Amino acid sequence: MKLTEQQFKDYLLQIRALAEGPFDEMQKEIEVTNTFPPEFYQTAIDNDLYRFALPEKYGGFGLSEKQILMVQEEFSRGPGGMRMHLHHAADLDWRILDDFGSDELKAQYMDKFQDKTIYVNFALTERTGGTGADLHTLAIKDPEDPDYYIINGEKTLISHTDCSDFTYLIVKTDPESDKDESLSAFFVDVHTPGFEIIPMSHMMGCRGAGHADLKFTNMRVHKKYMLGKEGQGLEVAMHSLAVSRAHIAVSNLGMAQRMLEMTIKRAHDRVTFGKPLCKRQKIQQDIADMGTKINALRLMIWDFAKDYDAGLNIDMKAAMCKLFSIDTVREVSDSMLEIFGGIGYFEDNNGVRRPDGSDYGPVERLYRDCRAMWLEEGPRTVQRLTAFRGLDQCGGRISYLD
Ligand SMILES: Cc1cc2nc3c(=O)[nH]c(=O)nc-3n(C[C@H](O)[C@H](O)[C@H](O)COP(=O)(O)OP(=O)(O)OC[C@H]3O[C@@H](n4cnc5c(N)ncnc54)[C@H](O)[C@@H]3O)c2cc1C
Repeated sequence: MKLTEQQFKDYLLQIRALAEGPFDEMQKEIEVTNTFPPEFYQTAIDNDLYRFALPEKYGGFGLSEKQILMVQEEFSRGPGGMRMHLHHAADLDWRILDDFGSDELKAQYMDKFQDKTIYVNFALTERTGGTGADLHTLAIKDPEDPDYYIINGEKTLISHTDCSDFTYLIVKTDPESDKDESLSAFFVDVHTPGFEIIPMSHMMGCRGAGHADLKFTNMRVHKKYMLGKEGQGLEVAMHSLAVSRAHIAVSNLGMAQRMLEMTIKRAHDRVTFGKPLCKRQKIQQDIADMGTKINALRLMIWDFAKDYDAGLNIDMKAAMCKLFSIDTVREVSDSMLEIFGGIGYFEDNNGVRRPDGSDYGPVERLYRDCRAMWLEEGPRTVQRLTAFRGLDQCGGRISYLD
């Protein structure tokens, strides 16, 4: 189902209204329960939020990467936990299977993403190891039946495990080696015997996104569930993480954009010492800096999307987008809180409304929500490492002439 330009614009407006209206309202209870109600999933289905990013052949809208990112910017204006879930469920969920699944797995599962009869989480991080090949979850061939692997180990901090049917699981298949090729990836049914989900405590922000530790005890998985070939696990993980980093960057953009708009409203309304805040040069300069960073971030992300759609390697630019987006949303959220003053520190701004009775928006929640972005898809150190590798490979030639 291809959208016309007008239909696409209308869709963006629909998602923005949803994020700041019904989703924000639903989140008030989720902040306490830490669980999405069933109507959240149904509302997401009704608004095509699990379908928009899919290619047309799987029932999606057939959007370009830039358009996918534009939709993500809009729903990222809403609650962080929902953004975190949708960022996975709309996009990361199907990409790995589409890129690395066997024809048999694709035939069985790819048409289940459009109406969300399956959800998939992504499990890389471990308590006992760092990012990359430093993994300890082990998959060894069953000596009695080499068609099966036996998996033992643990994963931590895994998002949206409460609704997941499958896990993209990155494990070590060669315990003797510490090379990248010692890792492999599997598509594992969460109902496989030996698979345990252990919920984690409430997070600082992004409530409701269903985080858990995963534990695998002598879990037998058939070799047909391997993604790619044995030894290709890091490639599977990094391939999806690269795109996902740009999607984290656009999530930061959506949040920062909303923060800017809220801050300008407050700067107009709040009068101190006889003048609205927006008449003070210091406040004007802060707001100018917020907008400048946001504008630069959006252009970086669209530049990434251009490369992605052209089939170029996107690892370096995705990492740069994420890196810059963390700094942007940190600075923007700090300025927002500073300009809002005391009421910004309270839930629902302690009930303070605009002169026309409308709401400023969730200052305190956005401030907490955005801090998860420091970590999702790797901290700044990892982004810098990836950016450095890319720069080193091309000798730093990133201008358009090159
Ligand atoms: C909300 C949320 C959702 C998440 N969802 C998922 C998920 O779905 N799946 C998944 O697999 N993971 C997930 N994660 C995990 C996330 O990817 C990790 O938290 C992140 O990669 C950082 O790893 P860590 O927590 O082990 O921190 P550490 O590796 O312990 O790092 C701590 C600090 O030390 C720094 N550091 C680490 N190593 C070095 C070094 N060599 N040199 C210099 N500094 C260093 C880091 O930059 C960081 O500042 C999630 C995390 C959060 C918070």
